[in-house]
Amino acid sequence: MIRFENVTKAYGSFTAISDLSLDIHQGEFFSLLGPSGCGKSTMMRMLAGFESVTSGRILLDGVDLTGMPPNRRPINMMFQSFALFPHMNVARNIGFGLKQARWRKRDIADRVDEMLALVQMENFADRKPHQLSGGQMQRVALARSLALKPKVLLLDEPLGALDKKLREETQFQLMDVQDRLGLTFIIVTHDQEEAMTVSSRIAVMKDGKLLQVGEPSRIYEHPANAYVADFIGNVNLLPVRISATDGELIDVTWGNGRNMVIRPQPEDRLSAGAQKTLVLRPEKIHVSKERPEEAFNINMVEGVVEEISYIGSVSTFHVRLDDGVLIRAQEANRLLASRREIDWDDRVWLSWRAGACVIIES
Ligand code: ATP
Repeated sequence: MIRFENVTKAYGSFTAISDLSLDIHQGEFFSLLGPSGCGKSTMMRMLAGFESVTSGRILLDGVDLTGMPPNRRPINMMFQSFALFPHMNVARNIGFGLKQARWRKRDIADRVDEMLALVQMENFADRKPHQLSGGQMQRVALARSLALKPKVLLLDEPLGALDKKLREETQFQLMDVQDRLGLTFIIVTHDQEEAMTVSSRIAVMKDGKLLQVGEPSRIYEHPANAYVADFIGNVNLLPVRISATDGELIDVTWGNGRNMVIRPQPEDRLSAGAQKTLVLRPEKIHVSKERPEEAFNINMVEGVVEEISYIGSVSTFHVRLDDGVLIRAQEANRLLASRREIDWDDRVWLSWRAGACVIIES
């Protein structure tokens, strides 16, 4: 539905977006994710028409958007600040764009009612923005940006002003509305958990370039490179050299010449001698005082617990291996903290299941 075709955006001598191509499909909840300054908002602004494209083009349903003013594009944008008019009540805020577009009074009233119902704000039509909570303002802003029936809604950090709990609730409301209307939502966020929760696909950006585009689980489990792996969630990234491969089993050398036998994802194709990065997520590692029995020397290492960080639901164990490498492993706290079986300075085994680690380019 939306195609960025070799799009470059330069501000003077600074290139904010560099030869970027991307397809976004009809009905997707698509996230642009990346660190501050990577170009996420620039992408949105070009799509909405607030910013010109230096070279390349953006197509919507096959139509080149170059030169089309923002108000002619079937695209609406919802800002982090909500930008509600303080002197207008909720109903007039929602109907504002319709009035500007010269809808008939009766049609405006019907559409406003429909939108109030969509975001479950029927009882708040007469309130002014200052009489609403942050979450309620967010819902009014959403209703207002959907009132004119855009084909695409752009959401720039839409939940940034909300606290964590409300944020999570609102994420589900957004997903529900998007699903019911079957619209295309594009969201900009630097919160990777938010992107994982709401999106059908995520584009991870850095320095005006796309590093990886894919479904959340694909990006998490099969990161294209170390940067993506590190940006999405906690991770152990271990530089390794492939010493030998034997079917599914792979000998790797790491740390101070230490050898380890691993069984990575079956799709990892490797040849001996290559320098790679082993990606091992903390939650996939089991910590035990006893040596795991199932697999002889495969997917396991031994070390000493140096640090334990407790966040209620899980504990993260920082385990120093004998050769100095530090690995973080996470366990769900099934017992009360006072009954924890593993403590500081304990000697432990770290083990993980076949296929729980992936090998990527270093
Ligand atoms: P954030 O998450 O902080 O909002 P972002 O990924 O949305 O960041 P952009 O706002 O798209 O980043 O900016 C991308 C780069 O382009 C930044 O380095 C920024 O300084 C630069 N930039 C943005 N607008 C302009 C402008 N009008 N003139 C010059 N440089 C700009």
